[in-house]
Amino acid sequence: MARDVYAELGVRKVINAAGTYTMVGGSRMSDETLAAMAQAARSHVVIKELQEKVHARLAELTHNEAAYVTGGAAAGLHITGAAAIARKLGRPHWSLDREQIAKAEIIVHRAHRNPYDWSLQLLGAKIVEIGFPNMILPTREEDLQYAITENTAAIYYFFMPPGGWTARGALDLDTTFRIAARHGVPVIVDAAAQVPPVENLWTITERGASACVFSGGKDLRGPQASGLVVGKADFLKWVTETAFPTYGVGRMFKVGREEIVGLYAAVEQYLTMDHAERVAWAERRIALFRKEFEDNPVVRVQRVYPNEAGQPFPQMAVSFTGEGHVAEYVLRRLREGDPSIFTMAADERSVFVNPMTLRDEELDEIRNRIARIGEEIFVQGGRVGE
Ligand SMILES: *Cc1c(COP(=O)(O)O)cnc(C)c1O
Repeated sequence: MARDVYAELGVRKVINAAGTYTMVGGSRMSDETLAAMAQAARSHVVIKELQEKVHARLAELTHNEAAYVTGGAAAGLHITGAAAIARKLGRPHWSLDREQIAKAEIIVHRAHRNPYDWSLQLLGAKIVEIGFPNMILPTREEDLQYAITENTAAIYYFFMPPGGWTARGALDLDTTFRIAARHGVPVIVDAAAQVPPVENLWTITERGASACVFSGGKDLRGPQASGLVVGKADFLKWVTETAFPTYGVGRMFKVGREEIVGLYAAVEQYLTMDHAERVAWAERRIALFRKEFEDNPVVRVQRVYPNEAGQPFPQMAVSFTGEGHVAEYVLRRLREGDPSIFTMAADERSVFVNPMTLRDEELDEIRNRIARIGEEIFVQGGRVGE
């Protein structure tokens, strides 16, 4: 048997019941993907040549004019933003000075501001915010129209379908595309966690995105440190000039041949995967959970659809009756157990169990642990911890 590095280091293995959360490693690569990466690592190649071949194949596979592998979606957002600035000023990004970059403007909805947008803040361009993150006065078309100036390099759009965790109040995607197209402004879409559905790999660019950015390490099940940019050939030309292995900002976002080949292998598998069967499997497991806890005095299982990222994939909210900080207590009991189970609170008394990142035997383990925690709470007369 190969060495167990985690055991040697005393690092606990975790059952990930939360979904494709980066803090526990996102998703798992298939053996086929791991083998492709190992093989890629064994030989030297000319990176540019590998990129040309893989990017052309990825474009073809995803029905896009062009594609690019980056070191994560966050890196992809930065690189596409830098490319948009270069395109606006008609010069390679490395040739621009800070004053020139500072004049460029990137438009973003206030409703879309989020912790990932340091990718934009660090560009050094002016971030022009529009609208409000609420429904009292949702963003109007004229808010976007007035924000577009001769310095606008791009509009950044954070795409998440209803049910996901973004604030409401932004213009919808197609309205944004329509106004942007009228002014010749590229729209960069952050769709990092927006597969499934698999069609998002091409429909968002068909609808009008110049570039759409996906995380390779989430449900695509590529390398954790990979991202996929797809889009229009004339825009991605600027991405190619800006991204690794070009010197300049792109050099900080290095992508190894292992990631390039690994993401390629993962996308290939993702496109031929039986997605309907995967959903059917999740539905069967959820129905089974519901049945198993049907008569439980403490535990109740609800099906949640879509999931917290707005993806068309069912998950569960498991709630516990009891007094005190119930969800917090359950999360701690799951985390402290062996094996450790990681998930998120759905509300004050329930936790998510998302089949997306789970295997059958892990779901069995989670069911047993939930049953035991339910018994504990029952025995304690409904009180939880301190
Ligand atoms: C996960 C995520 C990112 C970052 O993706 P990485 O591949 O981890 O860099 C960016 N934006 C959103 C909305 C995300 O969910």
